[in-house]
Amino acid sequence: MIALQAAATLALGLLLATPAAAEPVALTFDDLPVFGALKPLPEQTAITRKLLAELVRHHLPAIGFVNEINLTGDDQPARVALLTRWLDAGMDLGNHTYSHPSLTHTPVADYIGDTADGDAVTRPLLAARGRSERWFRYPYLETGPTLEIRRTFEDWLAGHGYRVAPVTLENEDYLFADPYDAAVKAGDRRRAKAIRAEYLAYTAAVVPWYRSAALALLGRRPALVWLLHASRLNADSVDALAKIIRANDLDPVTLDAAMTDPAYLQPDDYAGPNGIEWLERWSLTLHRDLPWASMPKVPADIRGESDALDDEPGEHGVN
Ligand SMILES: [Zn+2]
Repeated sequence: MIALQAAATLALGLLLATPAAAEPVALTFDDLPVFGALKPLPEQTAITRKLLAELVRHHLPAIGFVNEINLTGDDQPARVALLTRWLDAGMDLGNHTYSHPSLTHTPVADYIGDTADGDAVTRPLLAARGRSERWFRYPYLETGPTLEIRRTFEDWLAGHGYRVAPVTLENEDYLFADPYDAAVKAGDRRRAKAIRAEYLAYTAAVVPWYRSAALALLGRRPALVWLLHASRLNADSVDALAKIIRANDLDPVTLDAAMTDPAYLQPDDYAGPNGIEWLERWSLTLHRDLPWASMPKVPADIRGESDALDDEPGEHGVN
């Protein structure tokens, strides 16, 4: 009898120790065709080719959010061809506004106009493949300073067939991406390698933080939507990011698949000037705190260098 009880206790212990089923994760890349200050076309092409080849090699579905302002200029057809590469690689494309304005600082009528201008190129590319453009990502995650403004804009979005792509996982990749670009541009390989190592260490620490924060907040593991940027840093990091995804037992899926999770039907009534991600929005709605004190910190050297680069003329620190 005692042996039987011991066996039952052991079996229960094993059951509890078994990792929970992997939660889905959708990778989303902002600021297409390529993040950061406008780079020469050959550089943009190399970054896009590498990013997509690595995503395909690792069987990672993704969606890219486009700022069509970055497709203008003499070489517009060649820059548009970078978007075609995304579709050829089996990825999706969405609208990130035309010129990356902030809804906190832009009148909503102008913001709607900018968003309407943001799919002139992308929508026909999708339509030529029998697909439609369905996803919108807010620049800076700023969803409007008042609920009235937010509802005005989101009513327009819904009327034009768009859904908002939320963010429930982020690794502040844009803070590392500019210093990495600067090191590569300066030919400083050692610094570039060091920045990449800091980026991956931070990512390896912050992904489990988001997973456990989401579990604590919702009592279950929701599908995650990961905000990244179409940067040189990420093109050079997919292999290591794939390892982090595997180490966390995450299941890479499309954004459409992740968004079938009922977590995304919860109310989010946040209105305010700050661009915050969706776990924080839900924590406000549910009146439950997130464990901010245990959140990993971006290294001070990266934060300092990123701020300094943002202040340089010609740089526009978009995210
Ligand atoms: Zn952006």
